[in-house]
Amino acid sequence: MSFAYEIAEQVRTGKTSARAVIEASLARAERVQAELNAFITIARDAALAAADALDKRSASGEDPGPLAGVPVVIKDNICTQGIRTTAGSKSLEHFIPPYSATVVERLQQAGAIVVAKANLDEFGMGSSNENSAYGAARNPWDKSRVPGGSSGGSAIAVASGVAPLALGTDTGGSVRQPAAFTGIIGYKPTYGRLSRYGVIAFASSLDQVGVMARSSKDIALAMDVMAGHDEHDATSIPKDKPQFLDNLTADALKGIKIGLVSELSGEGNSEGVLQALEQTKALLERLGVQVGEVSLPNAPYGIATYYLVAPAEASANLARYDGMVYSIRTGENALGQAEVMMKSRGATLGPEVRRRILMGTYALSAGYYDAYYGKALKVRRLIANDLEKAFAQFDFVMTPTTPSSAYKLGEKSSDPLAMYLDDIDTVLANLAGISAVSVPAGKAEGEMPCGVQFLAPAQQDEKLIALVAALEQTQGDQFAPLATSYRS
Ligand code: GLN
Repeated sequence: MSFAYEIAEQVRTGKTSARAVIEASLARAERVQAELNAFITIARDAALAAADALDKRSASGEDPGPLAGVPVVIKDNICTQGIRTTAGSKSLEHFIPPYSATVVERLQQAGAIVVAKANLDEFGMGSSNENSAYGAARNPWDKSRVPGGSSGGSAIAVASGVAPLALGTDTGGSVRQPAAFTGIIGYKPTYGRLSRYGVIAFASSLDQVGVMARSSKDIALAMDVMAGHDEHDATSIPKDKPQFLDNLTADALKGIKIGLVSELSGEGNSEGVLQALEQTKALLERLGVQVGEVSLPNAPYGIATYYLVAPAEASANLARYDGMVYSIRTGENALGQAEVMMKSRGATLGPEVRRRILMGTYALSAGYYDAYYGKALKVRRLIANDLEKAFAQFDFVMTPTTPSSAYKLGEKSSDPLAMYLDDIDTVLANLAGISAVSVPAGKAEGEMPCGVQFLAPAQQDEKLIALVAALEQTQGDQFAPLATSYRS
């Protein structure tokens, strides 16, 4: 599978048809589904119809758009008109959205074609894709390991060559962590740069749509199409003018300084991750970047803060799945509305989702609010302040993306706390509302890929992606390779 910019070029110049591209992508999707359970729905008929319509438009002389015929995979918590959207939950098993999310609509207007809806942890709650009501997904580099989560299926789609571009959502790391676990690029924009209209809410002050790809140019192409103000989303940045492609300049590294976060780059990381971090640091220095140490004193409190704020917001957002208007109604012999709601929620929400609702309701309840939720908001501010101070000294801040590479299925699923602790590096960007990207950094334990994360000040996303491009240039095709068994 080629890159998005190559496919679009070939379709635009008539060297190939959208139909041929989409047929190949669907065939690959079927294989990947059988081997890795990456998808909840493969949208065969809709994708082929869209491809034929695009070919017809091109034949009649119309411009098919900058992403002409590019297959894209969309995480199943992002609405797609006419295509089932479950959020990985049994409660939305039969939900067919009447409209598409703005991000999907803008991709489609640019010529991209949705081939599949990706597997995920239910409502985005998890880090391994094992919390999906539609079964766990598997890592394309080693089927006995998790692909990461919650955007596991989206990461698999890119790493196994089903599509060059996939959308995920990132509330505390769900785009960056699976990207690191599968050896691809995962980018979470600044809060507000991508519209969340039509995205199923998890924790509204943290949620952001993110892009997964194997090339910085593909990310730039997709961002130029998707970003920009959306009047349907009150948190969308006004007057935003995305200029990612224009900023992919060769001198992105000139005179820049990067701060390696001391609290996150030592103890607690695996040997392999530390080695990868060291190698990336050495590479940056060879390229003339000044790499120094920076301290984020409140970073160690990021997990505690995130796991109060996110469940608190989730408990409010998920109140609507009560069997009344949304979700499945169960409990035929139930007496009254309260019992119907209780039974419906009990029967259709999985154990991790229920745990989050309980934690969140508790943190918000009278008498505990100040001690938990209120305190978490204060620490959230301190973390953002730490980052602001770091950016006064450095252009970017650098950490591992995850403390280890992908682990075995089942290894952490019975220990939620162990799974939560692994989000230590990624939650910071969401708490501060800034952009961050995970970049492939070679192999760690078990010959599994791992990633290095860069964070940029708010709204400096274009510079962040230009940094990725500069690193990519030094490594060529080896930068974000397809998983070994999916190269042919
Ligand atoms: N792993 C984190 C969680 O379980 C982040 C999830 C996400 O970003 N959607 O909440």
